[in-house]
Amino acid sequence: MTRIEQLIRPELRRLKPYSSARDEFSGKAEVYLDANENPNGNYNRYPDPFQNELKKELSLYNGVPTENMFIGNGSDEIIDLLIRTFCQPGQDKIVTFVPTYGMYKVSAEINAVDAIELNLDENFQPKLPQDPCFWENPTNKLLFLCSPNNPTGNSIGENIVLECLNRFKGLVVLDEAYIQFALGESWSKRLVDFPNLVVLQTMSKAFGLAGARVGLAFANVEVVSWLNKLKPPYNVSELNQKAALEKLKNKVQVIDEIAKILEQRAILFEELGALELTQKLYPSDANFILGIFEDATELYAYLLERGIVVRRRKDVGENALRVSIGTEAENKKLIQTIKTFIREKSTVY
Ligand SMILES: *Cc1c(COP(=O)(O)O)cnc(C)c1O
Repeated sequence: MTRIEQLIRPELRRLKPYSSARDEFSGKAEVYLDANENPNGNYNRYPDPFQNELKKELSLYNGVPTENMFIGNGSDEIIDLLIRTFCQPGQDKIVTFVPTYGMYKVSAEINAVDAIELNLDENFQPKLPQDPCFWENPTNKLLFLCSPNNPTGNSIGENIVLECLNRFKGLVVLDEAYIQFALGESWSKRLVDFPNLVVLQTMSKAFGLAGARVGLAFANVEVVSWLNKLKPPYNVSELNQKAALEKLKNKVQVIDEIAKILEQRAILFEELGALELTQKLYPSDANFILGIFEDATELYAYLLERGIVVRRRKDVGENALRVSIGTEAENKKLIQTIKTFIREKSTVY
C-alpha cells in the first residue's frame, strides 16, 4: 500500500465509485440518450465532471500540470471532501493553528472529526509542538496551514511549512486563498518534492468570482484521483466553469484589479494607522487588514448604522476588526465615517 492509500479511510479504499453517464462515455456523439437529460434548451446537458477545459486554462496560467489539479464547488467543498476522504469519524483528527479560517473546524465537526487547535505565536506564526508523539500519531491526518492567514493577514514562514511537510505523517493542507496578494511564491511549484502536500487556492478572492464557486486543489496525482472518486459526479456546474474560463481570458483585467487592491491596501493601512482610536494594525499579505481599535464594539455598530459592514474577530480579541479592501471610494467613505465617529465621541464629553 502506498503512503497516501494508508491515509485513506479504510472503508473507502474498497469503494466502487458511482459511474456517471459521462464516465462511461466521454467522447463526442450526435445523439445523446444516455443521461436522462431534456433534449431542449441551454444548460440542459450535464457539465464536464472533470472540468478539462478549465484545468487546461488554469495550467497555462499557473504552471501546475492538469493531472495535479482538482476543482471544487468553492474551496469549502474541497476542505470538506479532504476531511471525509482521510478522517475516520470519531477517531481521526485534524490540526489547525488559531486564530484562522473557521471552516476547517466546522467541516471537521460536521464529519464527527475532532480539531486539535494549536496556537499561533505573538507574530501569528504557528507554534509547532516539540513532542515527537504529535508528529508520529497516525490519527492526526490533516494539518491545515493558512498562508496568508485569515484573519491575521500574514504569510507563514517557509521553514515552518517545511518542518510540517517533513515531520507530519498525514497530509499538510496549505490554504493559499490570498496568495495573489502576497509577495511569496505559491507552494504549488513544489508538489514534486512533497507527496503529502495539498495546496488550496480559490477564484473567490483575487479573481473576483466569489459568486461563481470555483475552488482549486493542487496535489499529488494519487490524492487527486481519490478526490475524483469521492466527489459528487457533477460538483462544478457549467455556469461556474464558464464564469471561470471567461475570467481567465481577461488576465490583464485580473492583474489590474489586484494592483489596485494592493495600492488601496497601502493607503488604507496608512490612513487607519493615523487614527487616534487605532491601537494596532497588522501588516497584511492579503486583501484585508486586521486591527485593534479602541471602542471597537461601538465603532462596529456606528459603521453598520451608516451602511458599512466590517468583520468583528473576537477570536483575536474583543477590540479586533477585520476590514476588507474595497474600492477607492469605499475605503474613503470608511475613513471619513470613522473620523466622524471620533469627532462625535470627543464632543460628547
Ligand atoms: C475565503 C476563504 C476560502 C473560501 O474559498 P471558497 O473558494 O469561496 O470556498 C478558503 N480559505 C480561506 C482562508 C478563505 O479566507
